[in-house]
Amino acid sequence: MRKKIVAGNWKMNKTAEEAQTLLSEVIALINDEVTGQVEVVLCPPALYLPIAVQSTLAYERISIGAQNCHEKASGAYTGEISAPMLRSIGVQYVILGHSERRQYFEETNAQLAEKVNIALENGVKPIFCCGESRDLRENGDYIAFVKNQITESLFHLSAESFANVVIAYEPIWAIGTGLTASSAQAQDMHFEIRQHIASQFGVEVAQDTTILYGGSANEKNAAELFAQPDVDGGLIGGASLKAKEFTIVVQANQ
Ligand code: PEP
Repeated sequence: MRKKIVAGNWKMNKTAEEAQTLLSEVIALINDEVTGQVEVVLCPPALYLPIAVQSTLAYERISIGAQNCHEKASGAYTGEISAPMLRSIGVQYVILGHSERRQYFEETNAQLAEKVNIALENGVKPIFCCGESRDLRENGDYIAFVKNQITESLFHLSAESFANVVIAYEPIWAIGTGLTASSAQAQDMHFEIRQHIASQFGVEVAQDTTILYGGSANEKNAAELFAQPDVDGGLIGGASLKAKEFTIVVQANQ
């Protein structure tokens, strides 16, 4: 049985006080009844990772993830944070290849392959983001584009290592825009992604891979999206910044 996950990407939001408040509110609302078998992964800005880890130690169903890491283990990379550092404070996941990082920081598939490697070597599980632009969706072979992102950043892994990777399909045209992929569009792409994984790692590994949907998922549309057979949860941006909304999204994945 593959894992169901709902991850909250807080992006570059919240002051320390606001972050603490949101954290406390989410912790207060997330209980076994809400989560069922769902794992909740909170991804606050890096500054708040230590407090997030400490505050959630007692909660088995809540894990903490970073929003990025550097591709090297250590060294003269001013301002950067490494996978060994994340591991050393108890961070379990790291979002890699988010479209905002690909767009604003020019992260490439090859560089992301290195980030995936260093994360896995240090026991931090990548939530690997892939997805097409609106232009590609309307005018190009968007399925081939997404498959290629996965091939170039993940297909060098052994099946054993790949088993620790979570995929997040996030059509760029749906991120922060209020436009959501329909549940059929999400299912179609998730199915394609799973087939693609099967072609490299085998059907069993593909069946065990958690594939999340991201892009304006919220308390209103989450249940329908998560009901699709190949949608195993969500990577949630805007709706993860409000504890109640986020909790409803988590509950929708049972
Ligand atoms: C995201 O950036 O990962 C995301 C899905 O954002 P939103 O839910 O706000 O579209």
